[in-house]
Amino acid sequence: MNSTTSEKLFSRAQAVIPGGVNSPVRAFRAVGLPPRFIVRGRGCNVFDADGNLYIDYVGSWGPMILGHAHPEVVYALKEQAARGASFGAPTPLEIELAEMICAALPAMEMVRMVNSGTEATMSAIRLARGATGRRKIIKFAGCYHGHVDALLVKAGSGATTLGVPDSAGVPAEFTGLTLSATYNDLESVDELLRREAGEIAAIIVEPVAGNMGTIPPAPGFLEGLRARCDKHGILLIFDEVMTGFRVAYGGAQVRYGITPDLTCLGKIIGGGLPVGAFGGRREIMELLAPLGAVYQAGTLSGNPLAMAAGRATLRILRDENPYPRLEEKTAYLAGETDQLLNRYGIPHYCTRVGSMFCTYFTDRPVRNYQDAQQADTEFFARYFAAMLSRGIYLAPSQFEAGFVSAAHGDDALEDTLTALEQTLKNL
Ligand SMILES: *Cc1c(COP(=O)(O)O)cnc(C)c1O
Repeated sequence: MNSTTSEKLFSRAQAVIPGGVNSPVRAFRAVGLPPRFIVRGRGCNVFDADGNLYIDYVGSWGPMILGHAHPEVVYALKEQAARGASFGAPTPLEIELAEMICAALPAMEMVRMVNSGTEATMSAIRLARGATGRRKIIKFAGCYHGHVDALLVKAGSGATTLGVPDSAGVPAEFTGLTLSATYNDLESVDELLRREAGEIAAIIVEPVAGNMGTIPPAPGFLEGLRARCDKHGILLIFDEVMTGFRVAYGGAQVRYGITPDLTCLGKIIGGGLPVGAFGGRREIMELLAPLGAVYQAGTLSGNPLAMAAGRATLRILRDENPYPRLEEKTAYLAGETDQLLNRYGIPHYCTRVGSMFCTYFTDRPVRNYQDAQQADTEFFARYFAAMLSRGIYLAPSQFEAGFVSAAHGDDALEDTLTALEQTLKNL
């Protein structure tokens, strides 16, 4: 597979963009390869600058649940672009998307739009502190909540891949109010609560962990968090930026039947455009400016193009309900992958929730960050390179989720499994 054009573009990019990328994991450093520059996508496929075709399991890191360039989303964007890209004034579109979100997520009575998942978690935490008058928060090691200063503590995803669990430029004082617990381990939460329950404003969690691979919540884990928050007057924040409208229409809270106090969204609700949102119970949300004392704002928030793409995407998800098929296809892919790896005697642990999946190269079950870190990243790098050379575009890190879209047909799944078998034969 020829990649000379991508390599030339990468050199050019590195001269003017730090590391040649606008987000670190894209640089492929964890797998020791130059990244492919993508010029076009359609359905489950992306095409790079050298004209290579890939079956895409990254889906822009989650948003593209309908596949690339879905005709109805393209139409919605064209229509809106012709009417104007941004006004900095209220528009009917943003009400419609807010209504759809609130209808899908019973815990969200009100929602505020922002421009990224990072802004959503940052704002939700400010609101939780404003609502409770408390200062501290609990997060879980390996959960990623965007690049908010106070949340760059044992963050997964790119931070794990790069081996920098904390970032330079974040003073210790900024993370001093962030306590870290172990995912799927309520005892680790109780330990923190015994010491500081009265000071905790919020517990923030990815209800399905998707930034240290894919780790399902253990039975009782989310329920246990809910009960502890109720007991101690702590707000429970579900960061559903990845899982929202991914693991069910609505999100993990619908799938598992747990009601958080605040929810963060992003990715899918923007249909591929930059969007985030946070919301929850009315009395909490009404503490936000202009009604309340918690300040929060955004020049491009509720941007008409983003709202149009998000509305078109949610309409299709609501009306066509691709979720049962997504579940079936991803279960098939993960199950066959598991069997092939068994046949070739490769230590592995496959996880899946809805259309999110991960193959860890480890011989032990993965229930938390520490378990995930046992995986063989050197083996992953070789596996990744071999799959890429056979036209399968996976996330370039052991610690990322894979995503199946509604556009992945049976033929794409079979081609993927054929490439996997070829890869395993030759590794
Ligand atoms: C992607 C992600 C974020 C950050 O969203 P951005 O739009 O990249 O700022 C936050 N939380 C979770 C769970 C995510 O997966």
